[in-house]
Amino acid sequence: MKNISRRDFLKGAAIGAAGLAVAGLTGCTTGTTGNTENGNENEAVSTKHSWEVKPAAITDIASTVDTEILVIGGGYAGCAAAAAAAEKGAQVILVEKDDKLHGNGVGGTGVMGSRILDEAGIKLDKVDAQKRWVKTCGGRCRESLVASFMRESEDAMNWLLDIAEPDGCGVLITQNHSNDPVHKEDQTYHMLFGGTTYDEVGMTVLTPHLLRKHAEKFGAQFVYNTAAEQLVQDETGKVTGAICKTEEGYVQYNASKGVVLATGDISYNAEMMEYFAPIGNETMMKLNGAATDTGDGHLMAAWAGAAFQEGPWPTMMHPQAAGMFSGAFLFVSPEGKRFMNEGTWVQGKCVGIMKQAKAKYAFSIFDKNFQQDVVNDLPYGGGMFWDSFRGLGTTYEDGAASMAETVATGLENDPNNYFQADTLEELAEKIGVDKETFLATCERYNSMVEQGEDTDFYKDTAFLHPLKEAPFYATRIGAGLLAVVGGVHVNDDYQCLTADDQPIEGLYAIGNVSGDMYAYDYPINVMGNSHGRCLVSGKHVGELLAAL
Ligand SMILES: Cc1cc2nc3c(=O)[nH]c(=O)nc-3n(C[C@H](O)[C@H](O)[C@H](O)COP(=O)(O)OP(=O)(O)OC[C@H]3O[C@@H](n4cnc5c(N)ncnc54)[C@H](O)[C@@H]3O)c2cc1C
Repeated sequence: MKNISRRDFLKGAAIGAAGLAVAGLTGCTTGTTGNTENGNENEAVSTKHSWEVKPAAITDIASTVDTEILVIGGGYAGCAAAAAAAEKGAQVILVEKDDKLHGNGVGGTGVMGSRILDEAGIKLDKVDAQKRWVKTCGGRCRESLVASFMRESEDAMNWLLDIAEPDGCGVLITQNHSNDPVHKEDQTYHMLFGGTTYDEVGMTVLTPHLLRKHAEKFGAQFVYNTAAEQLVQDETGKVTGAICKTEEGYVQYNASKGVVLATGDISYNAEMMEYFAPIGNETMMKLNGAATDTGDGHLMAAWAGAAFQEGPWPTMMHPQAAGMFSGAFLFVSPEGKRFMNEGTWVQGKCVGIMKQAKAKYAFSIFDKNFQQDVVNDLPYGGGMFWDSFRGLGTTYEDGAASMAETVATGLENDPNNYFQADTLEELAEKIGVDKETFLATCERYNSMVEQGEDTDFYKDTAFLHPLKEAPFYATRIGAGLLAVVGGVHVNDDYQCLTADDQPIEGLYAIGNVSGDMYAYDYPINVMGNSHGRCLVSGKHVGELLAAL
């Protein structure tokens, strides 16, 4: 057998993986060949990644089901698409791999306007928001797609409110947002709570279930324990359906209007994580509650000829894999050393821990006066994405009080992540850092606080608080991966595209499986925009397909 050099292979892969553009990345899994020209048996050569190798077509179909629109994946995005399409009169089936729908967190949805914001007299600046978004993405997201979010999200939120309010839902908007000039947040976050569905399913999956109920009211069917494995394409390449694995064997769903991929992210696909989002593997924990998010939609799209956006893909990370509270106090590494400017936003903290401290976690150190310190900090920093995630309330005092409550509850119930001591020496022992190093770090920090200038990292002086009065506290801060928000190349109608921007007929991608909306880093200025884009992309595609 001819020896295959790595160069030959890469050339072949570029041709073989039609349409797969993953520029800027290298590194393939290895395999073995038989005889080689130079006589080495089983010389290791690169083989293709799973997304580059289209599997043999599944042929043992147990049954066939016809519909107009097939939505694959029952998270926020899929449910939004199903609801929007069904409401417009289309025949919709949503297949979900798990035995339940998925959602995450408190379900806060970020949008650039709503009647709730109007009532509160809050006007958002789309020009500023778009600029910040694109800048965070290093100019590598597609600006027209971001602009469509700016344009469509207000209408989408008012549509969601029309669905949620009759169910008894109320809406919370944020007050303690960040005013930091660099890490500024807009008051975009809408948190639904209360009502009949909330009582049935709780907060994390509230919005998907509200949308499911709405979709079912218009005749949509939700089918569980049904995992799409392959797309069906006709001789022109048009996607006409999907083959799904069920307990009764393979079921082929034929969709006359279109197939919508809404399969979430790649959090639990080890090969894709290593290749597209390796930084996510450096976190302490993956926080995505859908362990079923194994990049299936990404794979199916690639096998159908779709391209991926360039890597590495952006990651959404919060420093909340251990304790929930960290503030902008002194951070020390597991060795007891300071390593970053702590007065920054959530992703900055995670990256700081992983890259500067080269650790999975660090500790935030503060003293008796921390609640008042937080009150003083909030006007300068603060905000949900500054991690005052538990900072509920309408005033800085409310926010600080709720954070103090988080610490008190942690000290009572979570001794691995919350610590209290009468002296800094004792605190060092409790958190397991080198005492001498830790005490030297605290002393240096206190001297800079006194001096009024952080000459080590130039943290804003507003966040310099002394460590003087007992009791002293530490919380463990762990970097957590919430989602990988990169994926399949799409146009502004979320239709999947080949590497040369040719739309694949019949195939759409929404929510985290879709790419191009983000790049390099996840923008935090529009708080909750991940859910926001699920809502916008789902509604957009649902309505578009229904109208076909
Ligand atoms: C703890 C936490 C808190 C968060 N809080 C917020 C927040 O407040 N605001 C915000 O904007 N974002 C938040 N996020 C991020 C946000 O939740 C996600 O980005 C978003 O929910 C993704 O939605 P999705 O519909 O694209 O995917 P998912 O919600 O992941 O849904 C994908 C669905 O597809 C199914 N599926 C996968 N493969 C198949 C297959 N082959 N066949 C059929 N079904 C399949 C999965 O089982 C899953 O149900 C949070 C994330 C976490 C982890």
